[in-house]
Amino acid sequence: MQKRFLLDESEMPTQWYNIQADMPNKPMPPIHPATKEPVGVDDLSHIFARECAKQELDTEHAWIDIPAPVLDMYKYYRATPLVRAYGLEQAIGTPAHIYFKNESVNPLGSHKLNSALPQCYYCKQEGVTNVTTETGAGQWGAALSYAAKVFGLECAVYQVKVSMQQKPYRSSIMRTFGATVEGSPSMSTRAGKDIITRDPNHPGSLGTAISEAIELATTTPNCKYTLGSVLNHVAIHQSIIGLEAEKQMAKAGEYPDVVIACFGGGSNFGGIAFPFMRHNILEGKQTQFIAAEPECCPKLTRGEFRYDFGDSAGYTPLLPMFTLGHEFKPANIHAGGLRYHGAGVIVSQLLKDGMMSGVDIPQLETFEAATLFARTEGIIPAPESAHAIAATIREAKRCAETGEQKVILFNLSGHGLIDMQAYDQYINGDLVNYAYNG
Ligand SMILES: *Cc1c(COP(=O)(O)O)cnc(C)c1O
Repeated sequence: MQKRFLLDESEMPTQWYNIQADMPNKPMPPIHPATKEPVGVDDLSHIFARECAKQELDTEHAWIDIPAPVLDMYKYYRATPLVRAYGLEQAIGTPAHIYFKNESVNPLGSHKLNSALPQCYYCKQEGVTNVTTETGAGQWGAALSYAAKVFGLECAVYQVKVSMQQKPYRSSIMRTFGATVEGSPSMSTRAGKDIITRDPNHPGSLGTAISEAIELATTTPNCKYTLGSVLNHVAIHQSIIGLEAEKQMAKAGEYPDVVIACFGGGSNFGGIAFPFMRHNILEGKQTQFIAAEPECCPKLTRGEFRYDFGDSAGYTPLLPMFTLGHEFKPANIHAGGLRYHGAGVIVSQLLKDGMMSGVDIPQLETFEAATLFARTEGIIPAPESAHAIAATIREAKRCAETGEQKVILFNLSGHGLIDMQAYDQYINGDLVNYAYNG
């Protein structure tokens, strides 16, 4: 019985997929908060690389060439393996066939590098010398620090101060790659100084860190801001996951009935789901798509579809999204990458159109699932990825009851080897559930 399905270099996808071109209802445009006019490529390229701004608003081209230097870097760690989870199937006693795409073997331990590489490449091409970003838990900051080094850019990361203190090794990783890491709020920007003057003990938040990173990008010559999730161009880059999975599933002689991924802003979900959703749209396939979000941050299942800011400070354009409100503060669960108030624009439109669904999962169920997965498959998953595993287990148990032999594919977005404190708390019985209190 074959367990791992790989691709030769010659079989690697050479283009990304842009689902915007095939969507029955195109996403509504981002809007400038002051003028209320749709935002164009010129507006977006003040902050982002111009090529990323173009991809963001591209509703025409379904296929976008992966630049050769990016493809070269992908070949260091891609294609990632597609694995049949026989151990997990047996433990559940399900007739379902469970496959997972293992993005935890990316050098930085999560799927984030798939977009950090092209974003840094485009910046370099356009004459940019510095990139900046914010990071909460640190996965995006780590991926960007490495990608910046690869393409010869300076990188400055604003990390939420409290998370920097709680998870010191995340900033060590970024520094190892040569990035400058500042706890936010910091004294290095005007926004940071204002916050510290008002509240010297401010613990920081993604909102404060985004404000500082955007300020640095707009006040420093040749400096661009980058984002690791939520935006359309990030989902385009992540389509490499699903495009590879499609070829690997074919090698396994199967096609998924259900595709599952965890959901923060939607990039790893879109990455694995959209290439398969394409066949639903164009050929009438009936695959089901499920995004797994935390119970305490349920924008897909309990959010409202409307225009809202992408950040808590209100610096971004207004985006049409399922949102809990940009000032919503989710509980401090360990899945830091899923603590975001809104869903990306493409996913929000697809959810509105009934082409996918969301499911929300309590923290304890995610760690129970993660532990079962670790014991049966030998990989300790990121707390974020554990949401996809929990949703997969629910689906597989349903199949055990009905006898359905469904083919389930989920994305393992990252490993949890620097989240062991969370596992310790779970094993010691110190973890709790947090209900949604919006
Ligand atoms: C950042 C992150 C996520 C959440 O981001 P998405 O854009 O929703 O994919 C999920 N899993 C891991 C391991 C992450 O680092």
